[in-house]
Amino acid sequence: MELTQVQAHLKLGRQLQDQLQNLQSSYSLPRTNDRNTAIGVVEGRDMPFYADSKINDRDIYKNYTDFDKVAVPCYNFLGDISLPMRLTPDLNLYHPKEPGFTRGKEKCAERKIINEIIRVVGKNNLERDSYSVNIYTDKEPCMYCLSLLKVQLPMLYSKLNVQIYFEQQLNDMQNTPEVFSPEYQFK
Ligand SMILES: [Zn+2]
Repeated sequence: MELTQVQAHLKLGRQLQDQLQNLQSSYSLPRTNDRNTAIGVVEGRDMPFYADSKINDRDIYKNYTDFDKVAVPCYNFLGDISLPMRLTPDLNLYHPKEPGFTRGKEKCAERKIINEIIRVVGKNNLERDSYSVNIYTDKEPCMYCLSLLKVQLPMLYSKLNVQIYFEQQLNDMQNTPEVFSPEYQFK
């Protein structure tokens, strides 16, 4: 990645981080260290998508008055539509008949956001040629979400051009931008 690209990513990532933190302070949303929170912005949509690893029920967001007027709260729901694939023994992928979150993985905030984006944007059958989606998540995506972002989304929802930002990565871009060049691509 070129240095100018790193700087552009850093700028966008910090903007998303600010947007997340402003929402949290304006609506007194929980910000404890034992949770992960994330925000997703879809090109052409005013309302950002918001998720918290510890909030799996839409009703809980009712405690934060009018929050749903400024953001789309994303929560866990049955049937993980963004990840209908699992690993075969020889490391290929298959479609289980009943897709769903693996126990313990229902917490991933970035995954909740991607699920909800597919649900909301997908209602329009992804009518545009492409959608730019920028996500900031406090904590680094786990390997499960990494496979969603890197492998399964491009396979199944190739119109969604997702960019992902998280704090450690932004700090790296700020402090040691040279580590982003060369970048190693596995395609
Ligand atoms: Zn995850």
